[in-house]
Amino acid sequence: MKALKVDHIGIAVKNLEETLAFYQEVLGLELAGTETVEEQKVKVAFLPVGDTEVELLESTTDDGPIAKFIEKNGEGIQHIAFKVENIEEAIEYMQSKGMKMIDEKPRYGAGGAKIAFVHPKSSHRVLVELSERTK
Ligand code: ZN
Repeated sequence: MKALKVDHIGIAVKNLEETLAFYQEVLGLELAGTETVEEQKVKVAFLPVGDTEVELLESTTDDGPIAKFIEKNGEGIQHIAFKVENIEEAIEYMQSKGMKMIDEKPRYGAGGAKIAFVHPKSSHRVLVELSERTK
């Protein structure tokens, strides 16, 4: 297995609208779209930049993973996603290397990707997402 590129950088924010102003008006990025992922209790905004994307994540509830992250750490970078060619193979490979996976099976990710998170204990305290894009 080989990570192909940084697919996106996931950033936890308190308020999507307010944060978008910085990325759009100050950094000059364009909003490609937004999506609510019920299962993960987040509203997501995508802003492509070069070959990668900024993914802004706002919690839709007080008890979602992003709300908990902000409670503990404040706003900021929450995860880094690497593009892989085949998510099932990538999960198997990671496990064969002794990595602990949060997701042992791929789950639905925003933008129609198939994703799996690696446990930060295995990845030097960075929450790593593996992402296979179908499109
Ligand atoms: Zn992500």
